[in-house]
Amino acid sequence: GPRSNLQNQKKQSNFPNKSRNSDSLARRERIKSQRLSLPIASVKERLIEEVKTHDILIIVGETGSGKTTQLPQFLFNAGFCRDGKAIGITQPRRVAAVTVAKRVAEECGVELGQKVGYSIRFDDKTSSSTRIKYMTDGLLLREALLDPYLSRYSVIIVDEAHERTVHTDVLLGLLKNVQNVRSNSMKDHVNTDDKKSKNRTVQEKGTGAQCTSFLKQGHGRKFPPLKLIIMSASLDARVFSEYFGGARAVHIEGRQHHVDILYALHPVQDYLDATLVTIFQIHLEEAPGDILVFLTGQEEIESIEGLVQEQLHKLPEANRKLSTVPIFSSLPSEQQMRVFMPASPGHRKVILATNIAETSVTIPGIKYVIDPGFVKARSYDPVKGMESLIIIPTSKAQALQRSGRAGREGPGKCFRLYPEHEFEKLEDSTKPEIKRCNLSNVILQLKALGVDDIIGFDFMEKPSRAAIIKSLEHLFLLGALTDDCKLSEPVGHQMARLPLDPIYSKALILASQFNCLEEMLITVAMLSVESIFYTPREKLDEARTAAKCFSSPDGDHLTLVNVYRAVDGLLEKRKMEFGNEKSLKGKNEKFLRKWCKENFINGRSLRHARDIHSQIRGHVEQMGLRISSCGDDVLQFRRCLAASFFLNAALKQPEGTYRY
Ligand code: ADP
Ligand code: MG
Repeated sequence: GPRSNLQNQKKQSNFPNKSRNSDSLARRERIKSQRLSLPIASVKERLIEEVKTHDILIIVGETGSGKTTQLPQFLFNAGFCRDGKAIGITQPRRVAAVTVAKRVAEECGVELGQKVGYSIRFDDKTSSSTRIKYMTDGLLLREALLDPYLSRYSVIIVDEAHERTVHTDVLLGLLKNVQNVRSNSMKDHVNTDDKKSKNRTVQEKGTGAQCTSFLKQGHGRKFPPLKLIIMSASLDARVFSEYFGGARAVHIEGRQHHVDILYALHPVQDYLDATLVTIFQIHLEEAPGDILVFLTGQEEIESIEGLVQEQLHKLPEANRKLSTVPIFSSLPSEQQMRVFMPASPGHRKVILATNIAETSVTIPGIKYVIDPGFVKARSYDPVKGMESLIIIPTSKAQALQRSGRAGREGPGKCFRLYPEHEFEKLEDSTKPEIKRCNLSNVILQLKALGVDDIIGFDFMEKPSRAAIIKSLEHLFLLGALTDDCKLSEPVGHQMARLPLDPIYSKALILASQFNCLEEMLITVAMLSVESIFYTPREKLDEARTAAKCFSSPDGDHLTLVNVYRAVDGLLEKRKMEFGNEKSLKGKNEKFLRKWCKENFINGRSLRHARDIHSQIRGHVEQMGLRISSCGDDVLQFRRCLAASFFLNAALKQPEGTYRY
């Protein structure tokens, strides 16, 4: 009866995780009210209507207004995923795809990988039930190789389009075409069925007509039209609108409080030093509120993290309530979510971020921004055929985005670590990446998608002719292209299937022919991560001695193989000793951490490399490449290296000059 029912309930609520349950209930309530207070919530119905009536829509909205997390949910609830179709949202950055997917899964109250998931290179958290899928722009390009009409998707949202990554630019060109083909296939369909909606389709389209089509007109297949949404944080929607034949653009009003901008009086000598001083100045003198610092990469972030800790110990106990949280793209994903957690009570949080935090992820609680004014960017010299990462001044647009992060929840302050007159000298906006990167990878993918005429491709912004020709030349030298510039069979096609730099792909394909793919897989994995060896300045000699144990007279690549195999050997031995129980996983990790520390190996990089190794191994197995080891006969392996990395060859000048 009702009585026993009541007792049952009572018993259950006495269960030890009662408090966790009510915690999570409170959390859900909090999330719900946070969502309702986002600027985008008040225009929900209007947005859904806009998407229904326009096949291409450009949405411009201030960072943090809720575009990335909310719009896909609105569309899902409005029925855009009928017939098992999915909404795909592309992000230029892996971190954004992962953290946003986790957040949205939580908002929907579902397990990550079910209704809401993400997919990035080397990490796929989706299933057949995934309907809201966050992914990198590069990954969607890869999907297009297997599914040229992107038939699984009813809506594609290209997010953070203002970043103008090379993948975004190429994707926009591709999507323009796919959409054109898909709505044409539908038009014929509609023609016979429903005159009214045909008229509508024609009216709205009118955009893709002038673009040259490389996709065959759907082979007579019928596709539901593809909705294309382009989202950007930059106020200038014009470039996108023009590219899509005058497509409709809507603006979402944000909420921005006043931000005081403070400049350095004089140019600073060392911006890291100035950053450190400013962090403590804020910490000791300013009202409560978290600090966001923009740095250029992992190394700077880790070095500032160390310096802050060092300084803290010199302060009186009462002033030590400052915690640092890093965020950058190669940070393991379980640590990336830490930036969203509040600091312990009474503590001030300092977030040390790359330009990920500029527009891609919005972190709550920020009141102070420190902007040294630099960013790491790709740069390509088509004459030398060399690509490198360089540190350059931000653009004005980036500086404005960065300072804006201080005024999301209330008035804030932004400390620009350069003099005011320097600001005037900055470029207005960042040059699209396609104008300053190596195009080999992109060209390989376009060729695989059937785009033969690269120079004639409808790019939003054309890369320089010189850069295209240099990259075609590289691909030709690597054997990926035939004399008449088509993808070669099988090498070119195989290379296009691997999500790697064409040089690495070539090395793997060659190695499988010369019986050393095992070694090459390890090499490519180890080369894909940040430095494996860890050499702290204060223990230089010890670190060098440790590194000698692994060093190979046959070169750095085999040295890396030695490190990898040493770890494999140790784990194998432990498996023999202790078996293969699940409970050992944690212990093994602890053991590995200790071993790495003793041997001056960067544990994080090594773990990352092991991860990548298993992923690439999966790819080459799928392609049917033969995996075997050359054992001690490393000559074959070195030949394969030379035959694929020859573009990086240099000639050493005579003895002692260390010049190439
Ligand atoms: P936009 O895409 O317009 O910049 P988002 O949809 O990314 O905005 O963010 C909307 C809100 O969701 C912001 O207030 C942000 O702080 C919050 N948010 C996003 N991701 C997370 C997360 N992982 N944890 C907590 N809050 C989050
Ligand atoms: Mg966003």
